[in-house]
Amino acid sequence: MPNGRAKIEIINPTNEENIGYVPAGSTNDIDMAVKSAKEAFKDWSKSSVAKRMEILNSLSSAIKERGEELAQVITSEVGTPIGYSRTAMVGTPRVVSRSYSRILENFEWEEEVRNSIIIREGIGVCAFITPWNFPLHQIIGKVAPAIAAGCTMILKPSKEAPISAFILAEILHDIGLPAGVFNLVSGHGSEIGEYLSSHPDVDMVSFTGSTNAGVAVSHAAAKSVKRVTLELGGKSANVVLDDAEPALVAKRALSACHQNNGQTCSALTRLIIPEHMKEEICKIIADKNDSYTVGDPLDESIRCGPMASKKQQESVTNYIEIGINEGASLISGGLGMPSNLNKGFFVKPTIFADVTTKMKIWKEEIFGPVLVITTYNNENEALFLANDSIYGLSGGVWSGSEDRAIEFAKGMRTGQISINGGFFNVDAPFGGYKASGNGRELGLHGLHEFLEIKSIQK
Ligand code: NAD
Repeated sequence: MPNGRAKIEIINPTNEENIGYVPAGSTNDIDMAVKSAKEAFKDWSKSSVAKRMEILNSLSSAIKERGEELAQVITSEVGTPIGYSRTAMVGTPRVVSRSYSRILENFEWEEEVRNSIIIREGIGVCAFITPWNFPLHQIIGKVAPAIAAGCTMILKPSKEAPISAFILAEILHDIGLPAGVFNLVSGHGSEIGEYLSSHPDVDMVSFTGSTNAGVAVSHAAAKSVKRVTLELGGKSANVVLDDAEPALVAKRALSACHQNNGQTCSALTRLIIPEHMKEEICKIIADKNDSYTVGDPLDESIRCGPMASKKQQESVTNYIEIGINEGASLISGGLGMPSNLNKGFFVKPTIFADVTTKMKIWKEEIFGPVLVITTYNNENEALFLANDSIYGLSGGVWSGSEDRAIEFAKGMRTGQISINGGFFNVDAPFGGYKASGNGRELGLHGLHEFLEIKSIQK
């Protein structure tokens, strides 16, 4: 239970109605949560691998059992189209939880190197600070490997979409995770997030969110020399090589940008195409974007819901205005609400062509359904454009030859790349180069982030 009575209102971005409140936790709440996690670490760090596997499998089953409830909650908080909520927001965390049980089956906790035994053990008390855009997925990407590693944790979810975190807390209690292993404190990032990051009894902070807040977390954590992993923003390039099939690329490029209403850190928001394909690709994309259905995310025919908050709606609208003022060619969408809607935090899915590298809409993460398109004349220029970003989270390459696309991908300074629309893989490491962060989540690499290494010489 929280110490204070302050609370945070949760708004449904589709109809602007209140859907509940969560406590605005205080630094006292953080102190209590850290104390509880520190105490629980003594036993949980020594728990058997079999027990951790059992918990991870039960977690996966419980997410499945409460799947529809979780999907409805996330759609009501974030505005994600319900079908995508079911698969990406709930289905992926379910699979990720189970994947860590599988990883534990064969994990080598000890190895011998000449006269040394190298031992891996849980790093300790972990603080998790998470965003609103994939609320449960971002949390499970930290909670599941932490459970596997024998760590204990304090979670501070985003204030815009915290309800699935409360359902997760219920689930973890119900499946028998020992008291104190998982602790939840909701609240404002600036008030308790930095305090949590600086706490001397926290051994590691794993942060997912904007680059500015990630830098603040790093500063706060620096004095106590704890491990900090950061999963931050992106402005990822989708590169079309000159032997790609234009119609296929155009079709997939739109969903790669607009999924989750364009509020995806790894969205492919910069489309880089050969000059000679410009007319054909831009026409198909503009036509498809003109008929992209926007509206109530509970309606299964809708492809784009609202922005998650009024602040987010204003920010995306501002970027669309900037793009127009910067002189990019607006080929679909634009300012204002879609004509069929009169409430909710909606924007029009928007496409800009003739975007130059000097423009803000080329450089900055917009975090909405806004695709920017530019052209190139040779492959070197395409690679320069792909890498022309402070970010490096994700990317795409399209080519008639997979080998050629892979060679091109090797030159990209980014954390994960999809070739010809290759699917997301929960066992592959996810994370960024440059200002997109450090550290990796998911799969075996995600587990290593939560481990300390000890070497004993004989
Ligand atoms: P945000 O940075 O505003 O908030 C993220 C979390 O940090 C929230 O819990 C917030 O309360 C907390 N926070 C804010 N300021 C803080 C501070 N000074 N100290 C400590 N904590 C603080 O981000 P958001 O708007 O919730 O999410 C969108 C951003 O997250 C985008 O930039 C997106 O690209 C990024 N993101 C990255 C990944 C990834 O894996 N790389 C995944 C999802 C989202």
